[in-house]
Amino acid sequence: MGKYVTGKFTCGHTGDIYINGWNAKELREYAQERFHTEVCPCCKKNEKYEAAVRHAQALKLPDLVNDDEETRVNGTIIREKLIATFIHEAKPFYRKVREAYSYNGDALAATCWPFCYATLSRYFNLGMTLPEIEAVFLEVLHRYVDAGYWIKMSRMVNANSFWTWLYNFCADKAAEEYVPESVKEEEEEKTIELLVRPEDIEKDGSVVIVSIRDGRGIGFKYEYDNDFISVMKTNDCKWSTEERIWYLPINERNGSFDDRAADIGSKLLKKGFAVEFTDAGQIAMIESGEWNPKQKRWVGASPDGKYLRITLGERNDNLYESAKSITGAKWEDGYIRILVKHYRQVEDFASSLEFKFDQAAQNAIAKQREKEDAIPVAKVKGKVTKTITVKEALEQKKYKKNDAIIEDLKDD
Ligand SMILES: [Zn+2]
Repeated sequence: MGKYVTGKFTCGHTGDIYINGWNAKELREYAQERFHTEVCPCCKKNEKYEAAVRHAQALKLPDLVNDDEETRVNGTIIREKLIATFIHEAKPFYRKVREAYSYNGDALAATCWPFCYATLSRYFNLGMTLPEIEAVFLEVLHRYVDAGYWIKMSRMVNANSFWTWLYNFCADKAAEEYVPESVKEEEEEKTIELLVRPEDIEKDGSVVIVSIRDGRGIGFKYEYDNDFISVMKTNDCKWSTEERIWYLPINERNGSFDDRAADIGSKLLKKGFAVEFTDAGQIAMIESGEWNPKQKRWVGASPDGKYLRITLGERNDNLYESAKSITGAKWEDGYIRILVKHYRQVEDFASSLEFKFDQAAQNAIAKQREKEDAIPVAKVKGKVTKTITVKEALEQKKYKKNDAIIEDLKDD
């Protein structure tokens, strides 16, 4: 139950105030009070806008631009709101980040609403100080000058979503500025024997190949560079936030450390990077052009060994159709599943299309073969010339066995 009361605001403009409730007299007084102390909504917005512009000028931020006047005004007000969010929340937020070091996660998660634990832990993985985070925010404020961008950010007024949004910029910055220890020390102690450069060197410094995770991973260290990152991505390498390194796990499917070092190292050389290897043998492999390319087509097995799993390793309709033509083949998430008893068909498929069986698949097939070997073999005669009873057939078999034993004894 509400209604509009019309009146004149302090700015001199006439407008409506919406009042809600039952006591008409009190509400009218309340409305009159507001008419005497407030400017109209339009002037209020202009005041906010002007304050936002003044604040932006004080911070030396660029004025927002947009062809649409309304968008420009609203975008500026929203940007100002986010600056206020940062100013009011940054210190308590950063205190929570620091606390996150010393508390266990669950206890912290319970106390740190609205800064959820996931957001905090991501921040402390970055290891940035508050002034560094502030610098990133300022950079973002300078980068986005289209008011339309900030209009879209109106949902960021929630503190947690604001920090999640800012995190992505901080993470980019951290990756950009991160210089691996080995690159820092490069000047002093470069192991020249393991360092090679391409004929046309285009990039500064060198990519350093390292062994990580006790040899179960190959890592590539270099400063932030788009060409470097694109080589990493096209070779299935991933960025490890904890280790701060691009890496590829070394396992059965990815092949040996040396093969991958030669393989990815040669691609980096082609892109104009100097590369430091971990072993002279890898350089020899590159010079002779001989290393095992990464096997992408695989046959694996389900953990219980009941099914074989064909991984195509690429989007290829022909491969898919061939795999699907195997008896009972079924597409599951990322692979084609076949009962292990059809392994003969899978073997034919694999040998004609250069698929490899991983250890799990080999084990599953060996087990299936054992099962089949345990089944007695029936020697089928070419032609049935007379009918005999089951009893007669068994007696004949027993007789032949005895014969065989007698033959064996004769040999001794
Ligand atoms: Zn007004």
